[in-house]
Amino acid sequence: MKGKRLLMIPGPIEFTDEVLAEMSLPTLSHVDPQFIEEFGQAIEKMRKVWLAPNGQPFAVAGSGTLAMELAAANITEPGDNVLIVHTGYFSDRMADIFRLHGANVDIVPSGVGDLPSLELVRAQLKAKYYKTLSITHVDTSTGVRADVKNLAAAAHETGTLVVVDGVCAVAGEELRMEEWGVDIALTASQKAVGVPPGLALLVASSRAIDAFKARKSPVRAYYCDWQYWLPVMEAYEARKAAYFGTPPVNLVRALNVSLGQILSEGMDARFARHAKNARAFRAGLTAMGVKFVPAREEIYANTLTAAWYPEGIDASVLGHIAAEGAVLAGGLHPAIKTKYFRIGHMGMSDASEILATLGAIERGFARAGYRFSPGSAVAAAQAVLAKG
Ligand code: PMP
Repeated sequence: MKGKRLLMIPGPIEFTDEVLAEMSLPTLSHVDPQFIEEFGQAIEKMRKVWLAPNGQPFAVAGSGTLAMELAAANITEPGDNVLIVHTGYFSDRMADIFRLHGANVDIVPSGVGDLPSLELVRAQLKAKYYKTLSITHVDTSTGVRADVKNLAAAAHETGTLVVVDGVCAVAGEELRMEEWGVDIALTASQKAVGVPPGLALLVASSRAIDAFKARKSPVRAYYCDWQYWLPVMEAYEARKAAYFGTPPVNLVRALNVSLGQILSEGMDARFARHAKNARAFRAGLTAMGVKFVPAREEIYANTLTAAWYPEGIDASVLGHIAAEGAVLAGGLHPAIKTKYFRIGHMGMSDASEILATLGAIERGFARAGYRFSPGSAVAAAQAVLAKG
């Protein structure tokens, strides 16, 4: 590794050399024919990565929180009812954003590390008309993955729009946007999409665009308003220049490269690789006696692992692990913040990255005085990775 530390947090992640090389190119004019072509290609590739052949992609300078606000601001009118499937920190944020844009927000609650049952969400959808159901696909604060497919199906029974915060999921967790009937799936560049931070990305279904076009009141945010962004996205895709806000040229070009890499792996292969890598991580940590924050195996995320510090270990172990070569993240959920840590494993993570990270975790835990059998985590992960 020659002193390099692996960045294994839930975003930003390790980026490929090709993406980083693209970022370093001299910046083109945003109306340069080459940039217009590359932006157009990136928009087309987003549809394929989101598995939404008829969706409308948006790529706007900003972080994932902007993508959340783009979604909420454009489809919400004052007085609309919105239902939130509560999984943790980021569903609270989504609730706040919907409220700011005039929605009456109801929350289907859950305990820390869990999510509400499908039956509970379905019952609430039937109890009152909701214009929108909001789901955090993977709640980065707990490592809990929601069952987007079945939640979306429940929302369709009542004609409710489905918004998926996929910031910690898109291009890593299985998401079949059109087949599952998701109306907005949003993310940010720095996670499984594999591009340095700075792009808010979302794809909207025709139902979401229709809901926007049928608005009776103006969007309550200037920079978010699709009336300005839609013509820009349509123009670039038609290989024409357009301007509303200057696009982050280097990031968009890097996005085009990264989406190309994602598509050459293939979405099914990519989902399967993320699932296998996550199993390998969990096998490794389990071998060390470490336990996980999510309540049940079927809700474990594939893009990150949230694990409790074992007895006698606290957040200071993260410094030891970083010194041994892997940067991990501490806790985020306010109720348990000091009690757990998080490992991101998304994007192009391969077997050597996983084994190197688990090796660093073993050495870091050993430095912190934790007793376990050295090599056990690496061996357990290797057993998963070596299976065809
Ligand atoms: N939603 C989820 C699920 C996230 O993980 C994050 C970022 N960790 C966000 C939203 C917000 O994204 P950003 O930090 O890029 O604004």
